[in-house]
Amino acid sequence: LRILGIETSCDETAAAVVERDAEGQSNVLSDVVLSQLDEHSAYGGVVPEIAARAHVEALDELIEEALKRANVSLNDVDAIAATSGPGLIGGLLVGLMTGKAIARAAGKPLYAINHLEGHALTARLTDGLSFPYLMLLVSGGHTQLILVRGVGQYERWGTTIDDALGEAFDKTAKLLGLPYPGGPAVERMARDGNPARFDFPRPLVGEARLDFSFSGLKTAVRQAAQDIAPLSDQDVADICASFQKAVSRTLKDRIGRGLLRFKTEFPATFPGTGPATGEKPALVVAGGVAANLELRGTLQALCDKNGFRFVAPPLHLCTDNAVMIAWAGLERMATGAAPDTLDVQPRSRWPLDSNAETLIGFGK
Ligand code: ATP
Ligand code: MG
Ligand code: FE
Repeated sequence: LRILGIETSCDETAAAVVERDAEGQSNVLSDVVLSQLDEHSAYGGVVPEIAARAHVEALDELIEEALKRANVSLNDVDAIAATSGPGLIGGLLVGLMTGKAIARAAGKPLYAINHLEGHALTARLTDGLSFPYLMLLVSGGHTQLILVRGVGQYERWGTTIDDALGEAFDKTAKLLGLPYPGGPAVERMARDGNPARFDFPRPLVGEARLDFSFSGLKTAVRQAAQDIAPLSDQDVADICASFQKAVSRTLKDRIGRGLLRFKTEFPATFPGTGPATGEKPALVVAGGVAANLELRGTLQALCDKNGFRFVAPPLHLCTDNAVMIAWAGLERMATGAAPDTLDVQPRSRWPLDSNAETLIGFGK
């Protein structure tokens, strides 16, 4: 089976070809991503109208390029998978309509893929994970802790009640006069900073629910910056280091609770407590914030302590890409799920855990 994937939900235009051979071996045949970062950075964030136009401009050629690099033609592809949500509606329209047009013209089935499902299933391609596992998605648009039970079976255990974590990094950077995107800039500054200088809040820490909240942290950063303005480079570094420490402590508490809940719900996946497979349960990270080395270190230590395996797919597959969309299409095909009909609509909002109902609704 060979699938062409298309991703246009945010500010990356991407196309990829992924195959699974007769032995069940999977191969990424091509992986083409065009980031629109330069077009948006002057505005300090993604501008939806610019994003949609940039997708229109780039997508056709990117798909050609993906097929060429994979050394296949459209005839050699068994299906098309295109992101149909969640994301910016203009971009979704471009990618999904292109996917529909190709599917129609080439007579191939179309799979409309939830972007979050792509993130959720990537670790099965890269690390061969078996179900169930936990996934922490931390990007510019999402902060969610998701139980992945199976293809099409997801439970959202926690979500942010305000800003996404990447957004908190971006806003903090902006407040401090650092460039966009803020995550890498904050991390770089934090290296030379004193994490103990500011005692920033750790939202929801200690609470039983598994949600996240980051807007109070950003407000505290603004307050601290105002109190000591004008800021020296050392001040900025200290704020960044203290911010990152607060985030790190928050994740430690939130995700730590998530791991405990997983252990309670799936004792059998722990060696010695059930049909011992010897395989440790896994926590997977995805999203651009997964690039942050301090946060990775925190999650790794937490997993070690709790008997979990920490899985961080290569960064280019953690951030937005079309390999994960093609892969999710393959996974769905492999379950025998019917493809989508060509009247499928893009959805700017589409919670992953509503997938089960939605899939049943498709094809009616
Ligand atoms: P989504 O995929 O949810 O629609 P997105 O396109 O913004 O949103 P990604 O491209 O996965 O998401 O990630 C971008 C985010 O990751 C930005 O908010 C950026 O600041 C953050 N980020 C990137 N590198 C780092 C880092 N080293 N530390 C912290 N955050 C980072
Ligand atoms: Mg992006
Ligand atoms: Fe994403």
